[in-house]
Amino acid sequence: MADSTRGMCVWREDCDGEMWSTDCGKGFTLIEDTPAENGMRYCCFCGRALVQLQEVEPEFTEVNDAAG
Ligand SMILES: [Zn+2]
Repeated sequence: MADSTRGMCVWREDCDGEMWSTDCGKGFTLIEDTPAENGMRYCCFCGRALVQLQEVEPEFTEVNDAAG
């Protein structure tokens, strides 16, 4: 099985960026900013390279009601 994230630990943003769940099954709470912005380059749990996945902010699409 090919694993493109081998040697890396992917952190996914949860709960509006306050909570990050890690590939190795842990959770980490950051008061503010991202792991990278906090100077974290490696997972503090498993020691692999930290890769952060941030939720893409949904674009606010204006709903134009064609009411008429
Ligand atoms: Zn990890």
